[in-house]
Amino acid sequence: MRYISTRGGGEPRDFSDILLEGLTPDGGLFVPDAAPRFSASQLARMRGMGYRDLAFMILSRFISDIPSWDLRPLIDRTYTAAIFGSEEITPVRTLEPGLHIQCLSNGPSLAFKDLALQLVGDLFEYVLAKGGLRLNIVGATSGDTGSAAELAMLGKKGIRVFMLSPFERMSPFQTAQMFSLVDPNIFNIAVRGVFDDCQDIVKAIGNDLEFKARYHIGTVNSINWARVAAQVVYYFKGYFAVTRSNDEEVDFAVPAGNFGNIYAGFLARMMGLPIRRLILATNENNVLDEFFRTGRYRPRKSSEVVATSSPSMDISRASNFERYMFDLVGRDGAKVKALWKQLDTKGEFDLSGTEYFERVQKTGIVSGSSTHADRLEIIQEVWREYGVMIDTHTADGVGVGLEHREMGVPLVCLETALPAKFDATIREALGREPVRPVGFENLEQLPQRFEVMEADVEAVKRFIVANVPEVQ
Ligand SMILES: *Cc1c(COP(=O)(O)O)cnc(C)c1O
Repeated sequence: MRYISTRGGGEPRDFSDILLEGLTPDGGLFVPDAAPRFSASQLARMRGMGYRDLAFMILSRFISDIPSWDLRPLIDRTYTAAIFGSEEITPVRTLEPGLHIQCLSNGPSLAFKDLALQLVGDLFEYVLAKGGLRLNIVGATSGDTGSAAELAMLGKKGIRVFMLSPFERMSPFQTAQMFSLVDPNIFNIAVRGVFDDCQDIVKAIGNDLEFKARYHIGTVNSINWARVAAQVVYYFKGYFAVTRSNDEEVDFAVPAGNFGNIYAGFLARMMGLPIRRLILATNENNVLDEFFRTGRYRPRKSSEVVATSSPSMDISRASNFERYMFDLVGRDGAKVKALWKQLDTKGEFDLSGTEYFERVQKTGIVSGSSTHADRLEIIQEVWREYGVMIDTHTADGVGVGLEHREMGVPLVCLETALPAKFDATIREALGREPVRPVGFENLEQLPQRFEVMEADVEAVKRFIVANVPEVQ
C-alpha cells in the first residue's frame, strides 16, 4: 500500500514516510493509492475477532512497510483493558432493540481521539527510534485532540508537542486537562481566535518546507493518516457487535467536526463493511450539513464560527473533507486541486446539479444538525428513557441519528466524549453533576501552564524556535 496526494502531485510514498508528515508537498492530503477490500470470507472470520486481532487485520493492510512482528506488539500494547477500561475496548450499550451507543471514550482523555492517538504515539516512537530521529509535533485542537495527543506523547523519546488551541473556547475541563499537563516537552499555546485559525497556523507551518525540515515538524491532527486508519477499526467492532450475520446492514450516527471520524466510517464502508448509511451530525456550525443537503460547500469566516455547547465540533473548514471529495470526484487530483483553488478565490464551491452531487447518495452519507436546545432535549430524553448520561457531542449524533432512523436497521450512535468533560451543559440539562472518572476529581484546581498568543504564524514559529534548543 502506497500513499498519494489528493491534489495529484508527487510520487507515491510508504506509510512510514508519511506518518510523520502533515500535508503533501502540493498542499493536499495523503490517501492510499487504492482502498483495501475485505472478501466475504475474510469478513466472516473478522466477526469473531477481539479488538486487537481486528486492529491488526485492518491496520496491516494500511501499514505494509512495518513488519508484522513489529506492528503486532505496538497494537497489542495499545488496545488493552488497562488503557481503555475493558477488553472490548469500544463496548456497545443497547438502549433499546435496534438503538445502540458505541462507547469510544474510555481512554485516558475521555474522548474517542484516544483510540487513534494512543496507537499513533507508539507508532511515532517506533519510526523515530528506527531512524534515530526527533520530532516536534505542531498540532491544533478544538478541545479533545490536544489532551489525547499530549497524553499519548507524554514521555515518548525524542518527541515534543506544541499544541495550539482557541483561547477560552474549550470547556473548563478540557482546558484543565491540557494545561495542567506540566511537562518540559509539552507546550500549550492558547491562540486568540477560533479552531480554524489554529489549524491555519499549523498548515502554514507545514507549508514552509524549509522550516518544517529544519525543526523536524510533524503533526498529529486528524489529517494524519494513521489516525484515520486506526479509527476504521471500531466501525468493524461496532458492526459485528450489533449484528448476527454479515448480510445485515447498519447505520452509524457520527458527530462531525474535522470529518476524521466519519471519513473512517466511509473507508470502512469502501472496504466492504455493510454500512447502509453514515449519518453526519453537526451543531450550529453546519457547513458540512449544508453540503450534504444542497451540494454547496461554503466554509464560514472565523468570525462566523459560533461557540456552542459542543465545542469540539466548532469547526468551519473540515480538513478530512478533502479526502472524501477526492473519492467523490473519481480520485481525480486535478479536479480536487481546481475545487480548492476555487475555495481560495471565491470562498466556496457548488456541486448541486452536477454528476458529483448525484454520487453523494451512493457514498451513503446523509446529514442533519442540532441546536443547543435540541442537545439539551436529547440528553434529557436519553437520561429519562434509558438512564444513560451522554455528552453534548454524542447528543448531536443521537438527535440527528434518530431523525434518520429507519425501523429494522440497527442504528449505532458513536459516543465521542464522556459527559464529565462538559459539566455545565449537563447541569443545565439534568440539574445534576456528571460522574467524574477516578483521577479527575480536582482537575481544575491543578496548576496550569500555557502561553497566550495572537493568531500569528510568525509568532508561533519564533516560539517553536526558542524551544527547540538542539537546532542551531
Ligand atoms: C473531535 C471530536 C469530534 C469531531 O470529530 P472529527 O473526527 O473531527 O469529525 C466530535 N466530538 C468530540 C467529542 C470530539 O472530540
